[in-house]
Amino acid sequence: MNIHEYQAKELLRRYDVAVPNGCVAFTPEEAAQAARKLGGPIWVVKSQIHAGGRGAGRFAGDPSGKGGVRVVKSIDEVQANASQMLGATLVTKQTGPAGREVRRLYIEEGCDIARELYLGMLIDRATSRITVMASTEGGMEIEEVAAHTPEKILKVAIDPASGIQPFHARRLAFGLGLSGKQVAAATRFILSAYRAFTELDASIVEINPLVVTGSGDVIALDAKFNFDDNALFRHPDIEAMRDESEEDPAETEAARHALNYVRLDGNIGCMVNGAGLAMATMDIIKLYGGEPANFLDVGGGATKERVTAAFRLILADPKVEGILVNIFGGIMRCDVIAEGVIAAARDVDLTVPLVVRLEGTNVELGKTILRDSGLPILSANHLADAAEKVVAAVRAHQKKGGK
Ligand code: ADP
Ligand code: MG
Repeated sequence: MNIHEYQAKELLRRYDVAVPNGCVAFTPEEAAQAARKLGGPIWVVKSQIHAGGRGAGRFAGDPSGKGGVRVVKSIDEVQANASQMLGATLVTKQTGPAGREVRRLYIEEGCDIARELYLGMLIDRATSRITVMASTEGGMEIEEVAAHTPEKILKVAIDPASGIQPFHARRLAFGLGLSGKQVAAATRFILSAYRAFTELDASIVEINPLVVTGSGDVIALDAKFNFDDNALFRHPDIEAMRDESEEDPAETEAARHALNYVRLDGNIGCMVNGAGLAMATMDIIKLYGGEPANFLDVGGGATKERVTAAFRLILADPKVEGILVNIFGGIMRCDVIAEGVIAAARDVDLTVPLVVRLEGTNVELGKTILRDSGLPILSANHLADAAEKVVAAVRAHQKKGGK
């Protein structure tokens, strides 16, 4: 789960990580009020969306070319910019061309920036450790730095048994070229941020930029948190920060049915049981020249209702031009899957090709049910056969003019 910058800063504040003062605002009047409360002389009006690159982003249809993070010098300007930004669509490198509607703003005090650095923490799957990353190349996309000048990213992996130690933080601080009291400030910052990361069950914390101010303070000017969904039950206060308007409605709907669904860019919808089999199914679709439209794991003990919900979810994606159902009936019986597929296909008036590969418990019964349904379902005998069939069926369907 993601949260907004202002919420991330609120959490960091609780852990004594230095952040500028700021207030969230939902209307231009609230923005002006926030600015009055903060006092001047410089304010920053920041669009709150679950995507980065806001500063360099542009508002759709706005010829002024102003970005999603604006530094202003009067309360009137705060209000005027808030009016322009609220309700407008911000397009950034991370939102994709469709952009995101700005519904909240963060009004923050202006900061006197001497240096912009980068600090990130994530769980490195290769080492199974929390890795703290720092770079002198703050303010820009870390992916770019990693691609072109990877030597500019310092990394420290933390042993989970001992946790972070001051020397880890100092090593990063010196690596960033800090000196004197900045080293102590950065060390405090990194240790506190690490505590927030672990205690809040985060999977990513990214401070970009981490700023050294003119007076030598070290402060978070931007903050991004990503949380491990499996641990959210331990943090109802974080769960309450969820902003559903920022989430893919399909993924929200999937979560309601306890389905693991991730939307992708392709046109072949997949419904699979088991995450490993789902990954393998996506791989083999690609091997046969297709592109998966989603990852979807219906789980081991899915019911007919859940299969129907999964089916609807796949078909709700307008990009889907074919569906591959690949189920290994272990706990879940093939006849139940077959009935769910048929019920859903009837329900939604299926207009795209559907390939079903069943294997396991009651497979013959499942196949019979599919065959006798009278629906144009293509049955496949194994995984490669299924992938080949669905890719070919989608191509044939496209030739006939699609849906
Ligand atoms: P994004 O990463 O989405 O573009 P940031 O919060 O990093 O958004 O803001 C973009 C840039 O705006 C920062 O790199 C920084 O230069 C400037 N900025 C952000 N907040 C402030 C602030 N409070 N005071 C001064 N400059 C700021
Ligand atoms: Mg940033």
